[in-house]
Amino acid sequence: MAMTNGKTLVTMIAAGNREIQDFLDSDQRETPYLVIDPKVAAQQYRRLTDAFRETQVFYAVKANPQPILIRLLARLGSSFDVASPAEIDLCLSEGADPSRLSYGNTIKKAADIRYAYDRGVRMFVFDSEAELRKLAEHAPGSAVFCRLLAGSAGAQWPLSRKFGCSPDMAVELLDQARTLGLKPIGVSFHVGSQQLDPSRWDPSIAQAARVFRELGERGVRLTLLNCGGGFATGYQEPVAPIQAYADAINSAVERHFGPFRPSLAIEPGRFVAADSGVLRAQVVLVSQKSYDDDHRWVYLDIGRFGGLAETEGEAIQYRLVTARDGEPTGPVVLAGPTCDSVDILYEKAPYRLPLDLEPGDYVDILGTGAYTTTYSSVGFNGFAPLATFCIGDNA
Ligand SMILES: *Cc1c(COP(=O)(O)O)cnc(C)c1O
Repeated sequence: MAMTNGKTLVTMIAAGNREIQDFLDSDQRETPYLVIDPKVAAQQYRRLTDAFRETQVFYAVKANPQPILIRLLARLGSSFDVASPAEIDLCLSEGADPSRLSYGNTIKKAADIRYAYDRGVRMFVFDSEAELRKLAEHAPGSAVFCRLLAGSAGAQWPLSRKFGCSPDMAVELLDQARTLGLKPIGVSFHVGSQQLDPSRWDPSIAQAARVFRELGERGVRLTLLNCGGGFATGYQEPVAPIQAYADAINSAVERHFGPFRPSLAIEPGRFVAADSGVLRAQVVLVSQKSYDDDHRWVYLDIGRFGGLAETEGEAIQYRLVTARDGEPTGPVVLAGPTCDSVDILYEKAPYRLPLDLEPGDYVDILGTGAYTTTYSSVGFNGFAPLATFCIGDNA
């Protein structure tokens, strides 16, 4: 317990993270800001490697590129899924060997491919002939894998048709990769982020097995099955345990590949980073739109542009904690502070907050360690990018 904002905060943070709570209680910093505890991400990483035996884990750096977190994961033996020269530089400078980097963005500038190649990266993804030709020219001899289109049904943050190609095309392109002097090693897919249904990996694994077989018949032996990310974190309701995802994937691999088991890889982002962060915001205004509407509008000092981009479509619904929890509540619409009308966090989702909530009160937003800081705008309406503090940073 500590005095903050004139009130005693006795709130419990997700997973009972004492150090994050102590940090929040220790000082009255200007809000909004995110506190990250990299040890939580390390713990999540270990949970993954316990569940997914004999699987190479490529942490998807975009979920949270905090240098300390990257360094810790590199030390634990993680590999990294990177999407740009800056992410490559980050991983290399935090101790990852280039042999543990996979350039997992299907859309790369030729100069960026060359940059990666010059720094020792030798594993690249593609999903089109044009990209394959770029790789052949700028990353000669590299290992390449083809991303398959995958459905995102069941995912709270779907990835649509932007990435991947049909299995037929994958077969042709992987065959062509060989003639272009590249090493075709396998396929990848991503079933959508915050995927709540572990059985959604099965259809893509079945497709991948067909691609492996057809290429085998042409004398191309693939070895890598990269099952992407998507492993869910419990924002409000519990989600399936990570072991359920591992079991579903392993049994699908057995079912579709039989005795020809490929090497498995996964690319978790959200699962590793989300629980490591708590975002502290402050109430700016509580108002009503008419005298007979009992919905209050609660405006926070953070919104869609300050880092909570995944509230678009109310897709990701974070858990909120206030110092007044336990007191009577009423329905609210939650919105951000900017002068843009899309800057509404939740209007349809049935959020309730304490009736005596007032400007100046803190609202802690849990599970915000993934996909927040990097989504924050550089200064829309003059609001600064989301400040981040990392526990252990100044130790
Ligand atoms: C973003 C991304 C991931 C991580 O997805 P999560 O749903 O956060 O686990 C994995 N692989 C690729 C290629 C990505 O773009």
